[in-house]
Amino acid sequence: MLMNNHDNEFDSVIIGAGVLGLWAARQIICEGGSVCVLDRQRVGNGGSGGILGALMSHIPDGWNIKKEFQFQALDMLEGELETLSKDTGLSTGYRRCGRVMPLVHEGMKDHVESWLSGAETNWRGRHSMEYLESGNSWFLDTGWPLTANAPFGASIDTFAARCSPRKAVAALAAFVRYHGEIREGCEVSCVLPGQNKVTLSDGTAVSGREIIVANGVDAYRLLHPFMGPANDDKPLGRGVRGQAVMIEFAHDDTLPILYQDGTYIVPHENNYMAIGSTSHNVPLSELEEVHTQFDPLDMDFYHRAVKLAPGIKDAPIVERWAGIRPRNTLKGRGADPWFEKVPGHDNLIALIGGFKITFGIAHRAMDVARGRIEGPRRQKLNWVQ
Ligand SMILES: Cc1cc2nc3c(=O)[nH]c(=O)nc-3n(C[C@H](O)[C@H](O)[C@H](O)COP(=O)(O)OP(=O)(O)OC[C@H]3O[C@@H](n4cnc5c(N)ncnc54)[C@H](O)[C@@H]3O)c2cc1C
Repeated sequence: MLMNNHDNEFDSVIIGAGVLGLWAARQIICEGGSVCVLDRQRVGNGGSGGILGALMSHIPDGWNIKKEFQFQALDMLEGELETLSKDTGLSTGYRRCGRVMPLVHEGMKDHVESWLSGAETNWRGRHSMEYLESGNSWFLDTGWPLTANAPFGASIDTFAARCSPRKAVAALAAFVRYHGEIREGCEVSCVLPGQNKVTLSDGTAVSGREIIVANGVDAYRLLHPFMGPANDDKPLGRGVRGQAVMIEFAHDDTLPILYQDGTYIVPHENNYMAIGSTSHNVPLSELEEVHTQFDPLDMDFYHRAVKLAPGIKDAPIVERWAGIRPRNTLKGRGADPWFEKVPGHDNLIALIGGFKITFGIAHRAMDVARGRIEGPRRQKLNWVQ
């Protein structure tokens, strides 16, 4: 029976109440385990408390294990979120809205052929991608984007989706609170897998047979001591600071995400649209100084978006948000997500570094970590005792 555990001992202790930690908690609860999620501040305090919510598919050509994993995750997310909404009575703001990507130079037309045939093969008839000629009535009818901004046409797919990050996180947290425990204001200072516990900055401890480290960009420092001398000279990852804004703009919520060269315009329900985003590297040594306050001088992404779809230009900005994404730099792994047992510690699991697509894959992270499905890993972790 699922119930709250009022002791200090759990099957799984999860560090971080972001999207990765909360999906892990939901899965463990559904499988009958007891969980305690610890967050140094509150639910959604990190990157998961943002506003953009693009659930983007990888480009469907050059297929590989990583793309297959992400395809399957994104394909099943709709059903997972529907079940979550039924369980909690809370909306996640999800819609499979698709995505339009203007082609801005002639060379891109060659690529688009390969994308279309890739979509046909690799998306296996479940979702599709089409090519819209420049001057297609779509551009005139919608202004999405302005005809002049798609001089070589555009690709449009039915696979990409959107959700509200905050609503999704709130729904997950509601489920976990009801069936397990979330403790806010609890900062983990030390992970002790050998003793099946973590210690908090106030000196107390919480015990778990399994310890799941999902505290975003701060996880790199927490896990560094376990990664052996082979990784001594190099941090396990870095932060990438980003900004986004929310505008209020009347629309009937049928438009796809408009994406071009790092700029996203994501239609949301209730006449909102999110626009993002910037990317600035933040080394771990500077994490403390890099606040997540919005920088009003760093608005190029917004101006690019307005140029792409000038119809939005007078829409008021109702929120400005900045956050930090974790980006892995593990030896031999590049930026691939790290969903895995930490070498040498069967009860210590890392769930870190979904980077820009975390919301589309987080619900599958525990299955990768437990070795139930193939994940994005490329080679064995370089770890020497
Ligand atoms: C501008 C911007 C736009 C983005 N857009 C998208 C998008 O459109 N689609 C998408 O999929 N992703 C997007 N992302 C990325 C996504 O938001 C992140 O990759 C994701 O939220 C990371 O989730 P997480 O669970 O790993 O960590 P986080 O959400 O950062 O959660 C970590 C939690 O751990 C807690 N914590 C930290 N240290 C400790 C400790 N020692 N003890 C206890 N708790 C601790 C923090 O308080 C925090 O709540 C965007 C990110 C940014 C910055």
